[in-house]
Amino acid sequence: MPIYEFKCADCGNIQEVLVRSGNDSDKVEMRCKACGCEVLERVLSRVGYSMGSDKGASPSVSAHNCSSGNSCATIDIPGPSG
Ligand SMILES: [Zn+2]
Repeated sequence: MPIYEFKCADCGNIQEVLVRSGNDSDKVEMRCKACGCEVLERVLSRVGYSMGSDKGASPSVSAHNCSSGNSCATIDIPGPSG
């Protein structure tokens, strides 16, 4: 079963949630363990990139809120340096 990371929209606490596959998989009952807020947003913590690079550089993802209710993610992919 996949484990996703969710960030609390209230206090920003990040916790891992085990998402069960099956009925109503889209509706997962979650609650922030820190503040009890029920508004959690998905965090894309692991990006499945295969850059074929041997320099050890990896893309970084920074999530931020664009507007109320929406979230955006900016992916910074390191280019070849040299
Ligand atoms: Zn919280």
